Amino acid sequence: MRLSRYFLPVLKETPAEAQIASHRYMLRAGMIKQASAGIYSWLPLGWRVLKRIEDIVHQEQQRAGHIPMLMPTIQSADLWRESGRYDAYGPEMLRITDRHDRDMLFGPTNEEMITDIFRSHVSSYRDLPLTLYHIQWKFRDEVRPRFGVMRGREFYMKDGYNFDVDRDAALHAYNRHMVTYLRSYERMGLKAIPMRADSGPIGGDNTHEFLLLADTGESEVFYDSAILELELGDRAIDFDSVEQCQAICDEWTAPYARTDETHDPALFDQVPEDRRRQSRGIEVGQIFYFGTKYSEAMGARVTNKDGEVVPVHMGSHGIGVSRLVGAIIEANHDDKGIIWPEQVTPFHCGIVNLRQGDGDCDAACERIEAALVERGLDPLYDDRDTRAGGKFATMDLIGLPWRITVGPRGLQNGVVELTSRRTGESEEVSIDAAIDRIG
Ligand code: ATP
Ligand code: MG
Ligand code: MG
Ligand code: MG
Repeated sequence: MRLSRYFLPVLKETPAEAQIASHRYMLRAGMIKQASAGIYSWLPLGWRVLKRIEDIVHQEQQRAGHIPMLMPTIQSADLWRESGRYDAYGPEMLRITDRHDRDMLFGPTNEEMITDIFRSHVSSYRDLPLTLYHIQWKFRDEVRPRFGVMRGREFYMKDGYNFDVDRDAALHAYNRHMVTYLRSYERMGLKAIPMRADSGPIGGDNTHEFLLLADTGESEVFYDSAILELELGDRAIDFDSVEQCQAICDEWTAPYARTDETHDPALFDQVPEDRRRQSRGIEVGQIFYFGTKYSEAMGARVTNKDGEVVPVHMGSHGIGVSRLVGAIIEANHDDKGIIWPEQVTPFHCGIVNLRQGDGDCDAACERIEAALVERGLDPLYDDRDTRAGGKFATMDLIGLPWRITVGPRGLQNGVVELTSRRTGESEEVSIDAAIDRIG
């Protein structure tokens, strides 16, 4: 991509309304623009990051056999009356009336709709287990939308729903989701800690939230620092193996980790003192096993092996895809701007031409750009005829992991400058070596 042809509306001034780094940098780097309170347009740079996160979520869900689909944003109130949640949900639900005076709503979540789909088509244990998911915009009329996309009113969420014949099978689905979430966050370069959570109004008896440690987080968290050492890495995982999924969940839930809602000071005191930590956290996902709550209310039943008709056991599992964009920045920035992890960066590398219009410099930049594209990477080439200082400041702000700087003096010696955004270190290397390092 050539910056001269792109749309990157960078702001020089720090927007007054932004209280935390991620919100400031998303506005300044031209990633989002507020449309109204808690509702944002995703400008091209922000959209790229959102899509990369979404891709990782899709890949990890499908790796575990979960099936993608898409449900609408607007739902009928009737389904919610069946589950009893139409009144219970309260003012967070955006209620809409259509021209025929029918009660509709902008979906805050999809348990009712997916249960309706299930009951219309499935009636036998032979069609189970089944996990369906989608990534779709949600609307919750939050009392205090704030921190940009972190607490929006309209936000992008992956929500998945498992259907199983009994409690044991549904608990395996729960564990499987925990493993897919651990893998997803790890692939985004994040340490998200599963913490035992409170089931709240959705109901249920087994739930974990995934929290990212950050001073600006809205939750208070207590944990054993040993949990930070755990890593899945690239270990092979058989998602059908009950034992293997259970073992991974046991490993991650053994160290103490709870939010203030479930915090148990007596239990916490048993953690060795030098490993006891108290901090703030951002909720980036949550998994729930809630059994037959919706299936009983809405008549979603299957015949089991013994020929009995039983309500299906369910769980629902969410990842805050749009919140993650902000959360990743909270965990990866400095005073100059964002520092993207390689796995979610909007472009893999920035190319800065120090003398636009100089034949050699232009040719070298174009060669680097073409070579990176050839390798399947997305470089952002700053080909504007502007001052170097401004170009560097923009690259630092938008936080691409690598910058290749091309100038006439270096080219005379056959080198360009390769700079890592994370370490700030620069080296002079040949063009081919720079391309190899990034590709
Ligand atoms: P919170 O406690 O932050 O209000 P929640 O517990 O109400 O979140 P869930 O119903 O568990 O949210 O939804 C799944 C995920 O969706 C959350 O873990 C979070 O990452 C994301 N999410 C929820 N509300 C918002 C919001 N208003 N803006 C952005 N993301 C959100
Ligand atoms: Mg909420
Ligand atoms: Mg919550
Ligand atoms: Mg939650």
